[in-house]
Formats: sequence, structure tokens, C-alpha cells
Amino acid sequence: MIPHPGNVFVVSAPSGAGKSTLVHRLMATVPDLVFSISFTTRQPRPGEVDGRDYFFVEDAAFDAMVRSGGFLEWVQVYAHRYGTGRAWLEQQLATGRDVLLDIETTGALNLRRAIPDAQMIFILPPSAGILAQRLRGRGKDSEEQVAIRLDHARHEMEQFEAYDYLVVNDDLDAASHRLEAIVQAVRARRERMAAQARSILAGF
Ligand code: ADP
Ligand code: 5GP
Repeated sequence: MIPHPGNVFVVSAPSGAGKSTLVHRLMATVPDLVFSISFTTRQPRPGEVDGRDYFFVEDAAFDAMVRSGGFLEWVQVYAHRYGTGRAWLEQQLATGRDVLLDIETTGALNLRRAIPDAQMIFILPPSAGILAQRLRGRGKDSEEQVAIRLDHARHEMEQFEAYDYLVVNDDLDAASHRLEAIVQAVRARRERMAAQARSILAGF
């Protein structure tokens, strides 16, 4: 168990469900939330920045981190590897700020072993048909890749029961509000607010 004074949020979703869109909005609207920057061996996409979206590393550097136990969890997704850096995350958690991890389901379940009170949020597309439309509309993938992602999506979707909160990304604004409400509700929990409440009480 990694000690942490703040809240840890884990967000997962099948590819194309709108997770990046929702997470970007959440990071822009909710203060005091730190995005966990993963390490990956894949190439940056246009617009992605090293050290902001990911730490982009070579295979050899990733291997070295695996060997030295530098990852809290890591997985291979399609042709690439992704991992949550142990030292980096521990450093962020020690600041007491809330941390959000955008990771897939296998990694999320492994992470929960290290951080059992992580708040697990799963984003679902409204339907399989709409997911296929969004993947095609995004224009990043060939028809063959869309078929692979849809097949993988079903496996990811099957994991939803392991999560604490479910958000169906139908209307983007509505889904954004629901996601934000989850974060705010977790922050308002009695055990999280007790110190502040006691200090208010002490003033009476
Ligand atoms: P993910 O990160 O889950 O793979 P993206 O955030 O890239 O998904 O979203 C996939 C596509 O669907 C993008 O083109 C995005 O603009 C679009 N999208 C996301 N949310 C919605 C929504 N609620 N309604 C319509 N389109 C959406
Ligand atoms: P993408 O290449 O589209 O950025 O990410 C592909 C998938 O890898 C997404 O589902 C994303 O959540 C997941 N992912 C990103 N970083 C990590 C990580 O550090 N660990 C795990 N387990 N999954 C990750």
C-alpha cells in the first residue's frame, strides 16, 4: 500500500469512448488535480508533448525500468508498452494533491493492489454502433485497426464491474459534468473533510 494524503482517481474506457476528451476537460475545469504522466514506447502523435502527455522512451530505457522495478504497473497494448512510473507517482502523491491516472483495465486492476482506495471510474460509449462511428470519425485508424479496436473494446467493457463509478459518454457536456461531480463527491467525503470540519468546530 502506497501511503497518500490525497485522492487517487483511475479512469479507463474502451478506445474511442471519449476518455481523452473527457479527461482533458476535467483537468481544465477541476483545480488541484495532477495528471499522472505514463511512460510509453510509442511515438508521440501530432500535438503530443513529451513530459506532458507521456514520457516517450526507447524500448531499452523501458526494459531497464522494468528490470529495476521502476513501474508500479505496466502493460503491452497493441505494439507498444505503457507504464506508471513508481518514483514519479510516489513523488506526486506525496505532495498531497489528487492524482488522476488514465490507464487501461489490466493496469488499473494491478494499480488497485498498490492503492486499494483508488477511486475507479469507467467511461462507456452509449452503444457499440456509436463507438464504431466515433472511431471512424476520429480518422486515426484504418478500417482494419477499427475492427481490432472494437474487438479489444469488448474485452475492456467486460471489466466494468471492477470499477466504482460508471459514466456513459452520450452527450459530451452532460458526461463531463457527471465526471466532475464524481471527483467533487469523493473530495467531499467525511473522512476527507474531517480535519477541516474539526477546525471549523474549534472556532465555536
Ligand atoms: P478515447 O480517448 O477514449 O480513445 P477520444 O476522446 O479520442 O476517445 O474520442 C473519440 C472520438 O469521439 C473523438 O473524435 C471525439 O471528438 C469524439 N467524441 C468524444 N466524446 C464524444 C461525445 N460525447 N459525443 C460525440 N463525439 C464524441
Ligand atoms: P494511447 O496510445 O491511445 O495514448 O493509449 C492506449 C491505452 O493505453 C489507453 O487505454 C490508455 O489509457 C492506456 N495507458 C496509457 N498509459 C498507461 C499506463 O501507464 N499503464 C496502463 N496500464 N495503461 C496505460
